Formats: sequence, structure tokens, C-alpha cells
Amino acid sequence: MKAGLREFAELCKALEATSSRNAKVALLSKYLKGVSPEDAEIASYLLLGLPSDVEGRRPLSVGWSTISEALYSRPAATLIQEPLTLRELWLSLKSMSSLRGAGSRRRKVSILQSLFQRCGVDEREWVLRILSGEMRHGVNHGLMLEAVASLTGFDLDYVRRVDMLLSDIGELVRLAVAGELGRADLKLFHPVRPMLAEMCNDVGEAIKLHGGLTSFEPKYDGVRVQLHVEGQRIRVFTRRLSDITERVPDVVEALRGALRAGSAVLDGEVAAINEAGKVMPFQDTMRRIGRERDVDEVAQLLPLRLWIFDILYLDGEALIDKTYEERRHRLEAIISQDLLAPRLSTSNPEEAEEFLRRAVWEGHEGLVAKDPRSVYTPGRRGAKWLKIKPAETLDVVIVAAEWGHGRRRGWLSNYHLAVLDEKTGGFTVVGKTFKGLTDEEFQYMTERLLSIKTGETEWGVTVRPEIVVEVAYNEIQRSPHYESGFALRFARITRIRSDKTPAEVDTLTRLRMLHEQKFEKKGRI
Ligand code: AMP
Repeated sequence: MKAGLREFAELCKALEATSSRNAKVALLSKYLKGVSPEDAEIASYLLLGLPSDVEGRRPLSVGWSTISEALYSRPAATLIQEPLTLRELWLSLKSMSSLRGAGSRRRKVSILQSLFQRCGVDEREWVLRILSGEMRHGVNHGLMLEAVASLTGFDLDYVRRVDMLLSDIGELVRLAVAGELGRADLKLFHPVRPMLAEMCNDVGEAIKLHGGLTSFEPKYDGVRVQLHVEGQRIRVFTRRLSDITERVPDVVEALRGALRAGSAVLDGEVAAINEAGKVMPFQDTMRRIGRERDVDEVAQLLPLRLWIFDILYLDGEALIDKTYEERRHRLEAIISQDLLAPRLSTSNPEEAEEFLRRAVWEGHEGLVAKDPRSVYTPGRRGAKWLKIKPAETLDVVIVAAEWGHGRRRGWLSNYHLAVLDEKTGGFTVVGKTFKGLTDEEFQYMTERLLSIKTGETEWGVTVRPEIVVEVAYNEIQRSPHYESGFALRFARITRIRSDKTPAEVDTLTRLRMLHEQKFEKKGRI
């Protein structure tokens, strides 16, 4: 039987009426079980209010004025009186999303009118919510995955993994309802979410965390790409799974002929380079990738260089469950040397340090250390891949200090670090650290801090902002924890800057700028 919009609207109403997560999961899985796999697929897009997934992720642009015209103007008489099915609604949304240019607004109004005519009050309400993309019934992607787990009996971790692999909730639900989830696998030309790396202090720590031996690769300061290849057909996807093939003809060209395989899915990075082959600043790469017109001309001026560092699929076989070491061997066997990211497998921190220096000298951001025994986990940020960047430093002022415990008992040893907020003229905290000082320095600091104490708290003291220290850190993160909105990760004191006054410390504006430059950029495309 074809799933009707009426039952779908009833489901949505019931979902809205309960705030219990378990009840929502039960409602969803019961509903999905009761419809065909194809209808379940449609229902899952609609449940998430995803008109943008209609027609290959192109946004469904139906403005409010078009909707209200359809609602309030007099429609032409319609002959169909039967209740609307989910599939009919879906096909209508799909046809609207492909309408362009002159007359498209009229067409949209008339499609909407014929939809609304066949809706009861409740159904119309939910169609409107679908059109606005805001369902407000408390079902999100995560909850859908729970429903899939409950409906299939697979554990949630497995469902999450398949979700990352398919990157398409409708496809996931369709397979679940059809009883085929166990066979879900990576498919050519269906991009999967790339595996991500976690931050790590230095090369020594990476070697230790990976059990004494790891593989280092340069960390390229560019844009992540996933390349799907079958014969002459090549598509290039970004980290957010957008298809950018048409914008990167030079990348496609570089790959053509560089591969000895019938089909493959490759993981890598592209960056703009200058005539001398030097990597350009990240902004140039973004500018290049963002460009949609006159692409060939821009490609001449600002060519992209491609580095491949992983392979997820080769000639019909998914490789994500193979170890990094094995994938790397497979990759080396089929790709020409000049596209292959160099790597150093070592257990020697000095060798790794040298590799890091060279990578930075060549214009890269640092290194990524990859556990040779690790499988490829799509969409996950974990310790199997660790990014190492050479530490950067900021000058900050100490505004409070906490009494130490254990070996540091009796010393003020955990320092609250602040930058200057030029707007208020005051100092705002961006992190804490107890790292970097020797015992003598702790002693000295404790005395100095007590001499400039302005108040006592249960954990320590607040002080006049006088002592300036240089701190090294690995990353500036957004943080709800501090009023400044930022936190320094892995901060450690590298020097006490007696030569600097608090007025000379780094500012919140600079911190914001550094953060924007480095850490928000990758998420954009
Ligand atoms: P981040 O954006 O700082 O979380 O770092 C992870 C990103 O580093 C990935 O998404 C890639 O775009 C990039 N990256 C650069 N070089 C590599 C590499 N050799 N292996 C994996 N990721 C890399």
C-alpha cells in the first residue's frame, strides 16, 4: 500500500505531542516498519524537513510569497480528489526544485495549489513545515539513527558508521526497511564523510599514542578532496560532500593517466601553488575553489596541486576496513609518485622532528600522524589520526592563580591567562595552564602573585594583571566556558616576559583573527 500524507501528518503530530526520546524512537520505527522501503526513504527526508535533498541536494527555493499566493488565491478546479500520497508530494517538491527562470513562479504556485487542495488541515500544516524546513517535532538526524537501530536490531554504532558511509539518510532508512542494512557498503560516486584528525602536542606524543611506531605525512594547508574514479569518469567532492568537479579541471587532469586502476576512491588535499610550485596561503586556495566562472583562465593563474594520501575503494573492493598500512601499499601500487603524499614511518622522534621542519619549510601546516594499524573511520575525529602543528605563541597576562595539589601543594601553580579586550579595556580569560615552569619558577611566581593579590577564592587568588607570560599553544578553540568565547588548547608557559607590560599583551581581536584564519576555514566548503 502507498503511504498517505494523512498518516504521515498523524505521525508528525504524535511526535510533536511527546517530549520523550524513547517514545519518539518507538513512533518512528513503528511507522517506518509499516511502509515500503521507498516510502520510508521519502518519509525520512520529509521528517527531517529536507526539501533541499530533493533533486541532488539542490535547495528547494520556494519563497513565502509564492506559498501564500498558493494558499490564498483561488485555484483552478482540480479533478483529483483522492488523498495525497507521500510519493506524490515528493514528486511535486522534486519538480518544483527543478523549475528555473521565467514562469517558474507561476508553475510553483499552481503545483502548490493542487497540493493544498488535496490536503486536510493537518496535512497542510505539515506540508508548510516541510516547505519551511522547520518541522519542530523534535526529530533530528541522531534520533532517526536511533529509530533505525531500533527497527533493525543493529547496534547504534554500526548504524552511525553506515550513516557516515552513505551520507544519505534516505538511503540508510530505505536499506534498513528493506532488511539490507548489513550489506551497506561504500559505493562509487557516493562520497563518504572523510576521517578527521585530533590535535596532539608533538611528534613524541604521537609516536607514544600509536604504540611506538607511526606514519607521518605533511599536513597540507588546503582543501580536502575525495576523488571518485571509474575509467574516464572522475568526480571530485569536498569534505562537506559538495561536488566541485567543474571547478577543478586541473585536478581532474592531473589524476587522469596517473592511476593504474579501473576504479578507485581516493582521499587527498588540494592547494593553490605559485609558479615556483610553492604552496600559496589558504585564502588563495579558497578563492580558486570558490570560483565557478572562467575556471580555465583562473586555473592558469592559480593552479591547484593535488596530493593523495589514502584509498578507500579499489576495483570493486571497499578498503576502509583494511589497515592504514595496507591501504597505503595498495595506493602506492596504483598511483604515480608525484601525486602521492610522502610519508615517514618511524619510532624516532628526532627523525620525525626533522620531517616536521621540512614540511613547514615547504609551506605546509605541520604533520598528520597515522596509526599504521588503524582502519578508516568515515566522519570520525579520533586519536588514530593526530595532527601536529608547530606551536604558536601569544603573550598573555595572569589574572588569577589556583593552589596546586600533590607535588605542587603550597604553590600557586595553575594560572588563569588573559588577553586584552580593547573594547572594554579590561582583560579576558582565554585559558589556564600549570605547564612549563620549573620548581624554582613556581616558587618565584607564588611569591610574586601573593604580592599582587587582590582577593582570595576557595581555589586560590585573584591578582592585579601585572605578570606577562609567553604561552605556546596548539589550537585556539571556541569555548562557551570563558566569557571571551575562546580557549587555548595545550597552553604551556614558555617564558616569563618581565620585559613586557600588561598593555602589550595580545588582544582579543588578534585571537579572533587567528582563530578565523586557521580553524574555521576548513568547514566552509
Ligand atoms: P583540521 O581541519 O585542523 O581539523 O585538520 C584536519 C584536516 O587536515 C583534514 O580535513 C584535511 O583537510 C587536512 N589534511 C592535510 N593534510 C592531511 C593529511 N596528510 N592527512 C589527513 N588530513 C590532512
